[in-house]
Amino acid sequence: MGDMRPVTTLIGPDGGNQFLRALNASRIRYEVVVNNFQTVIDEEKAENLRNIMYSTRAFDYDTVYHTYDEIRDEMRRVDDEGKDIPGLIITNPNGAAKKAIFLECGIHAREWISTAACLWISNQLVTTTTYDSLLDKYEFIIVPTLNVDGYIYTHTTNRNWRKTRSQNGLCYGADPNRNWDAAFCETGASSSPCSDTYCGKSVFSESEAKAMADLVKTKAATTAAYVSVHSYSQLWMYPWGYKSANPPNKARLDELSAAGTAAIKATDGRTFKYGTIANTIYVASGSSIDYVYDKLGVEIAFALELRPDANASNGFILPASQIKIASQEFWNGLRAMIEKL
Ligand SMILES: [Zn+2]
Repeated sequence: MGDMRPVTTLIGPDGGNQFLRALNASRIRYEVVVNNFQTVIDEEKAENLRNIMYSTRAFDYDTVYHTYDEIRDEMRRVDDEGKDIPGLIITNPNGAAKKAIFLECGIHAREWISTAACLWISNQLVTTTTYDSLLDKYEFIIVPTLNVDGYIYTHTTNRNWRKTRSQNGLCYGADPNRNWDAAFCETGASSSPCSDTYCGKSVFSESEAKAMADLVKTKAATTAAYVSVHSYSQLWMYPWGYKSANPPNKARLDELSAAGTAAIKATDGRTFKYGTIANTIYVASGSSIDYVYDKLGVEIAFALELRPDANASNGFILPASQIKIASQEFWNGLRAMIEKL
């Protein structure tokens, strides 16, 4: 019990009093941060609707959390090969050999800012000439909403859904970021289908994790960096998640993380901490970056937790008015890291 960290938890509408009684009985200190989580969700929806109404654009990259259908249609408009899991490969087709930079976004359904920020970056890359020199050297492979079924479910039914929507006996869904072939389900993951960190029936049982892994495999030898984008807590992390040991190229990963987090800080004053997943947030096995690092030899692999900071009471619900600044600081951090590659 040496390491005491606060946790935030969401109790269903009927279990509140019983839960608080149990905490009292166990002498666990607690603080009620929101009495009725539904009001927070309703406010988010109202802001989103207002922004849609006042927006002059069909697809608003700055202030709207879009639905899956809207994202798919926009991806098809930008790239007419829009897939079931929409993704974009953005580069300058100048014949030069390109190194790949992967942005894997929205693997956890409720982390809407991850999806919105990756869309925002893709829009910067395709609509301005500012980043042409970057596109001369790299191809950006951006998957804004990897967990499509889960993302749809957060829009229609449960804003707080994290997992996929696969059928697993009593419960639905597995955690697609515990489902990769890296110390699968050994630690920091649950084998119970009803848990939010359920690792799944087997390695790559979730089609989302499998599809992404298959895509990275085709580019493994030429991948310069793989970035898995999450929210929230303001962290810039690298392998490993499944053990607390430091990776062999820790010094290099620290150097890149320092550059990225400094550029984030310079944007809007936000502090992002960096370090290994296990030492920075918690032990977690079967994550995407541990897989690409261990199994595909991608030496530069990061998992980011975007804003807000860890103390936020409703961290997954970042006001839509912050989409633009959250995206900008992430993009500045990413570019500062890429400059050091
Ligand atoms: Zn996440």
